[in-house]
Amino acid sequence: MILVKDGRVIDPARGIDDVLDLVIDGGKIAKIGKYQRSEDYERIIEAKGCVVAPGLVDVHVHFRDPGFTYKEDIESGAASAAAGGFTSVVCMANTKPSVDNVETLGYVLERGARCGINVLTCATISRGMQGSELVDMEELAAHGAAGFTDDGIPLMDEALVKCAMERAAKLDLPLSFHEEDRAFIESPGVNQGAVSKALGLGGAPALAE
Ligand SMILES: [Zn+2]
Repeated sequence: MILVKDGRVIDPARGIDDVLDLVIDGGKIAKIGKYQRSEDYERIIEAKGCVVAPGLVDVHVHFRDPGFTYKEDIESGAASAAAGGFTSVVCMANTKPSVDNVETLGYVLERGARCGINVLTCATISRGMQGSELVDMEELAAHGAAGFTDDGIPLMDEALVKCAMERAAKLDLPLSFHEEDRAFIESPGVNQGAVSKALGLGGAPALAE
């Protein structure tokens, strides 16, 4: 058994936020409370000043793999996620090739499965994120896509978006959009307002969304 002692245990699902001890037995949490230190623990982890919480989830990460592994890859991204307490992540699909096909989806999931945390990935909504043709959402869902998104690229074809919504609803999977009309955007990355004006950055007005 492992004792994690004197950490600030936070578990929103159970309404716990207190300095407590936690006993792990056989890889599972056996007890949460205040415990005598006399028991024979194989390991005692001093967690004073640390937060002890269920694994965090990040539903929007970029591990850039395949295609841009000079920036990040699945192993390095998963390792940094784990170091920050994240045990489940959802990768974006704007890799090269993008996750618009079963082969690339399988590549990400297989490599992710060896990383020690839950590495999920979205597929794209449109083929090659070109905004003109839907991916085979049913097939990608059957092979484990967590949802669908073209991430930072707005879809401008409303009929395509409606169709994607109907198919996602049937699959009970989420869609994630980044809808804005680029015609209104002088420069992305900053809201248009007093600060963008003072800095001469142009910015993106709320009107674009
Ligand atoms: Zn993103």
